[in-house]
Amino acid sequence: MKTLKFLGTAGARFVMLKQLRASGGMWLRWENTNILIDPGPGSLVRCLNSRPKLEPSKLDGIILTHRHLDHSGDINVMIEAMTEGGFKKRGIVFAPGDCLEDDPVILKYNRNFVDKIEILEENKTYKVKDVTFKTAKKHIHGVQTYGLNFKEGNEILLSLLTDTKYFTNLAKEYPGKVLVINVVRYEAKENLEHLDIKGVEKILSQAECKTCILTHFGMTMLKNRPHEIAEKLNHQFKDKKIIAAYDGMSFDIEKGE
Ligand SMILES: [Zn+2]
Repeated sequence: MKTLKFLGTAGARFVMLKQLRASGGMWLRWENTNILIDPGPGSLVRCLNSRPKLEPSKLDGIILTHRHLDHSGDINVMIEAMTEGGFKKRGIVFAPGDCLEDDPVILKYNRNFVDKIEILEENKTYKVKDVTFKTAKKHIHGVQTYGLNFKEGNEILLSLLTDTKYFTNLAKEYPGKVLVINVVRYEAKENLEHLDIKGVEKILSQAECKTCILTHFGMTMLKNRPHEIAEKLNHQFKDKKIIAAYDGMSFDIEKGE
């Protein structure tokens, strides 16, 4: 079984700070491997309050796509929870280099609690237990930011297109059957390095995915109702299924529902 559970669908500052949507990141269960991706503020609480409960001590890895707080706020407490307070060394943490250098978001004292810390770089393949994933090209997002492609054999089943400003050929970087897109803005705003619906439309017109899940919503997305936006996109792109994620949503990657 391969499932992606949304412990939060908040994007950027205000939706996170007001907790209009939760900001716990995503829990990926891939057969017997468990990976937490982008544990923003409240991730620990969201894991423990999930039904069925998600047990952090069963995690095999934690991935940060980048250091912004809505993606990393709970990273330290999740490292402690994964390693049972640091007493059971386990797990791999994957993060871009700037999460560990000056002003690190991963505190030094708990780095020894985990088996390994691996630095994410563009176009590199990584492994956690039975899961293989590859980073895409570096995003345009102010800090070091990498999206992820999860593989089964030579096929990419799941692509996670994290925060970025739109760039040419962005869709080509994410060829997964299931494509998750972080779409913060409804309309573009200058100087904001985030995707908006026009960018999503450009991606969908080129992407190979069968299912696309929109998540990581900012204020303007919430005001325009993500499920209504998804409905419109479904009329526009009839060969794909487009879903707006909600807090607590669990998605079966193989079934596509
Ligand atoms: Zn960001």
